[in-house]
Amino acid sequence: MSARPLTVGVLALQGAFIEHINVLKNLGVDVYEIRQKSDLETRKYDGLVLPGGESTTQSNLLKKVGLFNDIKKLIEDGMPVLATCAGAILLSEKVTDGEKHFGTLPVSIKRNAYGRQLGSFITKGRFGDYTDIPMNFIRAPYFEKVNNPDVKVLSIVQDKTVAVQYKNQIAMSFHPEVTGDDRVHKYFISEINK
Ligand code: GLN
Repeated sequence: MSARPLTVGVLALQGAFIEHINVLKNLGVDVYEIRQKSDLETRKYDGLVLPGGESTTQSNLLKKVGLFNDIKKLIEDGMPVLATCAGAILLSEKVTDGEKHFGTLPVSIKRNAYGRQLGSFITKGRFGDYTDIPMNFIRAPYFEKVNNPDVKVLSIVQDKTVAVQYKNQIAMSFHPEVTGDDRVHKYFISEINK
């Protein structure tokens, strides 16, 4: 761990951001909500979280408040990012049943991939080196295809890829922030500290 606490910004325009904030605060991170351009400009962040919610709504709001291009640039320049569910859709370069948003993550993702009504379930699975990670799927997507050999697959559940990492970008189709298990966030912190 570095001497000073890490500073992480959590995109707080829509969706499940409070839960990420709570998990990160409990891990000793300085956390700030990002809602407008000044939130990005006033401090230096070590990492960003893109929460779950509704990807189209989030993308429209990002454009409305003028954050879309700034966040895209930060990610392209190497800012560590943890993206869950709708956040993973925002990152993906190809979106089945939806439009491309940031497009910084070389994967194809399928929205609402488990069906709209029955697409929510809880299970446990592997995440990188961790086993038995509780995973909460809420109208979740999954990754249909990895489009670059440098994309690491971190989780496979029911034969579908549900978590990946490409350089500074960690993305998953489930919600790790609502399960009471903080190992996914610890992994994010360890990647920031690398
Ligand atoms: N179905 C949502 C979307 O397409 C994602 C669901 C979630 O983030 N839990 O954006």
